[in-house]
Amino acid sequence: MKIERDEFLKEAAAYEPVYTENDNTAYCPTCNKTLALKAGDEIPICCGKLMELID
Ligand SMILES: [Zn+2]
Repeated sequence: MKIERDEFLKEAAAYEPVYTENDNTAYCPTCNKTLALKAGDEIPICCGKLMELID
């Protein structure tokens, strides 16, 4: 479906890349996934949202 794909691309483009300044842990409150990040890594998007940083 072309309309749905365009909507998805618009949503993805709304996120500016965010990078960690220090070693950190990213956390997704939606699916409870955590991911170890190193300084300078881009914070990943999970479940349609930017992951939160915890440390
Ligand atoms: Zn998630």
